Amino acid sequence: MNANLVALLYLVSGVLFILALRGLSNPETARRGNQYGMIGMAIAIGVTLTLLSFNPMIIGLIAGGALIGGGAGVVIARRIPMTAMPQLVAAFHSLVGLAAVLVAAAAFLSPEAFGIADAAGQIKAISRVEMALGAAIGAITFSGSVIAFAKLNGNMSGAPILLPFRHVINIAIALAMTGLTVAFVLSDGAASGGGHLLWYITALAFLIGFLLIIPIGGADMPVVVSMLNSYSGWAAAALGFTLENTALLITGALVGSSGAILSYIMCKGMNRSFISVILGGFGGDTAAASGETETRPVKQGSADDAAFIMKNAGRVIIVPGYGMAVAQAQHALKELADVLKEEGVDVAYAIHPVAGRMPGHMNVLLAEANVPYDEVFELEDINSEFSNADVAFVIGANDVTNPAAEDDPSSPIYGMPVLKVWNAKTVFFIKRSLGSGYAGVENPLFFRDNTMMLLGDAKKMAEEIVKAL
Ligand code: NDP
Repeated sequence: MNANLVALLYLVSGVLFILALRGLSNPETARRGNQYGMIGMAIAIGVTLTLLSFNPMIIGLIAGGALIGGGAGVVIARRIPMTAMPQLVAAFHSLVGLAAVLVAAAAFLSPEAFGIADAAGQIKAISRVEMALGAAIGAITFSGSVIAFAKLNGNMSGAPILLPFRHVINIAIALAMTGLTVAFVLSDGAASGGGHLLWYITALAFLIGFLLIIPIGGADMPVVVSMLNSYSGWAAAALGFTLENTALLITGALVGSSGAILSYIMCKGMNRSFISVILGGFGGDTAAASGETETRPVKQGSADDAAFIMKNAGRVIIVPGYGMAVAQAQHALKELADVLKEEGVDVAYAIHPVAGRMPGHMNVLLAEANVPYDEVFELEDINSEFSNADVAFVIGANDVTNPAAEDDPSSPIYGMPVLKVWNAKTVFFIKRSLGSGYAGVENPLFFRDNTMMLLGDAKKMAEEIVKAL
């Protein structure tokens, strides 16, 4: 295919990826966004395939890889529950990281095939820079993502593992990697000569990825996943340079920058600085924290109590959280809201930016249940409304309503913006126990006079309230 046409088609796929990201920023346009992304990817892959010289062995390998990988992707995507999405994303990022390392290794071992050898058959210096960067970022992404997956999936404790002198160790490894990279770039780059330094750089990068992620606690893990997403993008971009592939370069840059922006948004939603997330140590073992028993008295209510109070309310604001996702209570919740609306109650939904376990988690579930978009409000648009509401109906949310974030400077979540549900006349909490949420912090709201705990599974309780209504 003509080089100009290739460049043009890669540009078209790049524009489609940008439109995809734009579409994904809103639930109403997300489906269209996904379609743009799929078309863009099909064009990019199709054009890349036309660049190959026809060789049945290569075509067979690519077709086999696409079939196996694509088949596994379809099965996983169909089976995965929404609540397991963060660990799935972490697992996929590990593959992107590994791919980056493997491509860098392949380019190193076979520079002629990749067109990066100079007249003397040695790898060009600039290619050595790209190769070292691609391998290092890829290896960090791989081992970091594997640890993030294990923590999120419960294969390993979510508690931070704090090694003594970890910052000193990390800095020493980073310095060693920098030194080795400089030596590799200045070397002849031959596999038999200074080239072997690439393997040391890669090994140290695997190690630092592991060391960087183990001290990070469960509550910060979704930020880490987004950060690793960004790294995987930069690894791909570095490879785009090595392979002189514009589509890979554009895609890598888009993934890298959007992942970085997403990490920033999440940190802002949790009022945590990016640096403090990276330094680690925040957040306990959530599995242990949840389900803890508490001895202070609380007001406990039934579905009938909730139905009576809500039926007579003028305004109800629903606050969904992670527990709604676990219980898959969104459809029952929508039904509840519909019944309330029929009774003349004004219903709105308040979404905290980090409710659930990934950005947009609640929006996706509510959209799946066909909740009208105009009833769904972001934190900053609805927070002042709680004082005018008769009921704040908190379903499976916890941390995002915790007043300790506002009035307890000793709390680990102090400073995180929260939904001020306590300003409503009555606050209902549907959850199974008085246990804490993801951050492992007790919620003093459970013990307040205007709070009524509706203890039980979110879906079951919502259905019972509908029946009672
Ligand atoms: P939380 O994790 O604070 O609380 C969820 C609550 O749901 C738990 O206390 C649990 O209580 C309850 N629950 C679990 N299963 C059920 C069930 N089947 N039925 C009813 N209740 C159930 O969730 P939030 O959404 O309030 O907050 C999200 C947390 O995740 C924040 O700490 C946030 O910082 C963190 N996070 C989120 C990110 C995101 O992008 N969304 C990113 C980074 C972090 P019980 O066990 O008693 O039932």
